[in-house]
Amino acid sequence: MNQKPSLPSALFHFVLSAFLVSSCQWNSPGEGISIGEPNGATDQAPVVSQPSGPGTDPKSCKSSDPEFQCLALKIVSYEASDKPSVLSKLEAETLVAELNKVWSPCKIGFQLEQYESVNPTTLGLQFDPNWRSQASQVRAAFSDNQTLLIVATGKLTSSTIAVTQMPGYSPFGTLVEDGFADNPLTVGHELGHYMGLYHYRSSSNLMNPYIGTHTENLTSSQCATARSTNQKNWAQMFRS
Ligand SMILES: [Zn+2]
Repeated sequence: MNQKPSLPSALFHFVLSAFLVSSCQWNSPGEGISIGEPNGATDQAPVVSQPSGPGTDPKSCKSSDPEFQCLALKIVSYEASDKPSVLSKLEAETLVAELNKVWSPCKIGFQLEQYESVNPTTLGLQFDPNWRSQASQVRAAFSDNQTLLIVATGKLTSSTIAVTQMPGYSPFGTLVEDGFADNPLTVGHELGHYMGLYHYRSSSNLMNPYIGTHTENLTSSQCATARSTNQKNWAQMFRS
């Protein structure tokens, strides 16, 4: 089985704990979980060495395919006085290129339109936020109505590694903690929530509660839901 060298081999346990937000948690490495083969070409060499094509360029996902949905992304990365940024700009670009491969079966892509590295304390925010009480404050500090928001933070409270506001409620945005912010299957899973998807119990599905190195499949039904959510909720993030 091919392995993605950039991904940890541990399995992640994601738990949907609320209707309004999807808080995703990490569990001890699972055992006996069957991991299906990935979607063909998305599991090969590092994305940065791939030739560009529709949806694979982190700086532009514009496509000649009229069905392709190209969405603008803003990534904010926390830095601390004694710590470099959680996610460097180069790491953010690599992440977006890999996200584009994950979401390419749905003809959905992302382009990194804004990248900011900020010291959260200068904005009155904690490096390690309590996601239950402070996630809205974090989202409100950085969200706008032109881009999807991902904030790479310090450690979130307890075992939660990422949390995403489901569409229909504001402020919008994904928080993902240090150590997982560069993982395209973690962030890709969160973007799935962003685009209206809930958990899906298939061992190889991106939205499975247990995410491993090859859990990146998406069904045609999930693609349809994500695409319709984007048209309904995120039309201002479209770039063409
Ligand atoms: Zn989840």
